[in-house]
Amino acid sequence: MAQFSSALRLTDLDDFIAPSQDCIKPVKVERLPGSKAGKLAIENDGDYYQIDEQGTKTPLPKAKITLNDCLACSGCVTSAETVLIRQQSGEEMCRVLDESLAAPPESCGHRFPVVSLSPQSRVSLAARYGLTLKETEEKLTTVLKGFGVARVYDTTVANHVALIESGKEFLRRYGGDVTSSPGPLPMLTSSCPGWVCYAEKTQGSYVLPFISTTKSPQQIMGSLVKDYIADINGVRPNSVYHIAVMPCYDKKLEASRDDFYNDVFRTKDVDCVVTSVEIERLLEDKRIDFLSVDATPLDTLPGHIRENPQDHCGGGSGGYLEFVLRYAAREVYGHTLDKITYKTVRNVDFKETTLELEGKPVFKFAAAYGFRNIQNVVQKIKRNKCSYQFVELMACPSGCLNGGGQIRPQEGQNAKDLVMRLNDVYAMADMVDPLTCGGVSRLYADWLNGEDSEKAQKCLHTQYHAVEKIENAFNIKW
Ligand code: SF4
Repeated sequence: MAQFSSALRLTDLDDFIAPSQDCIKPVKVERLPGSKAGKLAIENDGDYYQIDEQGTKTPLPKAKITLNDCLACSGCVTSAETVLIRQQSGEEMCRVLDESLAAPPESCGHRFPVVSLSPQSRVSLAARYGLTLKETEEKLTTVLKGFGVARVYDTTVANHVALIESGKEFLRRYGGDVTSSPGPLPMLTSSCPGWVCYAEKTQGSYVLPFISTTKSPQQIMGSLVKDYIADINGVRPNSVYHIAVMPCYDKKLEASRDDFYNDVFRTKDVDCVVTSVEIERLLEDKRIDFLSVDATPLDTLPGHIRENPQDHCGGGSGGYLEFVLRYAAREVYGHTLDKITYKTVRNVDFKETTLELEGKPVFKFAAAYGFRNIQNVVQKIKRNKCSYQFVELMACPSGCLNGGGQIRPQEGQNAKDLVMRLNDVYAMADMVDPLTCGGVSRLYADWLNGEDSEKAQKCLHTQYHAVEKIENAFNIKW
């Protein structure tokens, strides 16, 4: 069974990329060390051998492929995923934490472990254990600190920054910001690595300019932790071990991108991604009675007040559409938008909304979840028939709350009911406007030297790379 986004995992959906393909990454096969002769052969079982003159077969060592090598073609993740995700797993996290605790304080093995907790994982754990969001995050903080974690933060702060940056980027592209020239529209969201990987692999350079350059909340948090948080705690970025708790396995691939590697300090912005279901497994393996764990408040950044778990204005995938629409309506037309009404386009995972002012449509935005709907939007763009200015794209049907790394339905519960329950739990969180959140503006001032600074551009934006297409490498059914 695949371990990546549920779009790739559930074999009974037509949003499905065929499993069990061989790895398409070319690997050089070498002779055994010290031997110059001998035939190299591949057997039916797929293993490589060296055969000497007497016909004796010696198996060759297995080729090692890291997440950095992975093209996310989904072939391997459906068949040999354990090899690929070993570097980023609950076991690896525990290994590093144990090593860090045992290492002398001044040694390089001694790390400053920091956890960022995503809102979607918090919801998944809250629903699993029948707790409130606040109880969940506070019990988890106690558990993680017991393992040696120094700080536990909420990724919501990075989500706020991602929304603000997306709003500003949209205005630049739209032309509402007179200081810069318009860019390609529709602007497509970039926070879902499942969709970004698909675009890079299958759509080449045509679609990439439409994708927002704003980093995902996970990677903004990565920059924040390895730069600002390391700095205020007086530690070097490469001493920080940054763990992100996320709703999907695709986030592990995102963390492994070269774009998120710091060459100066030779460290990744996010060292390890663990999913909600891996946290559940960890609690079970360590025989922790989660319900009876004491509460420890999450850590907060300087100037941030956090009394309750905060949420975004919008859905469980980050609320991009709603935030950008409200932001653009206010900035371009001075219009305050209260309620947003949607029209279902093809199915429940594809909806659009049109903002009309004085009887004239001014903005048309859409949200399309699942690869079938993504493909539909991409085709429209390619045929120059896309009437949207902004599209929120997510690989998983129902979005991030239904990510492939979320905790599975319990006995007697079906997947649909669970998604509904997760949406209800998510909706219980407080709503805050990222723009009026005092801590966020302080972050721009203290960390990024102000909005639109060179540092803000470097820490909050990224780029995409078309992956050369290998004929017949992908067997994608829509
Ligand atoms: Fe991960 Fe969300 Fe994308 Fe699903 S929709 S692959 S959970 S980022």
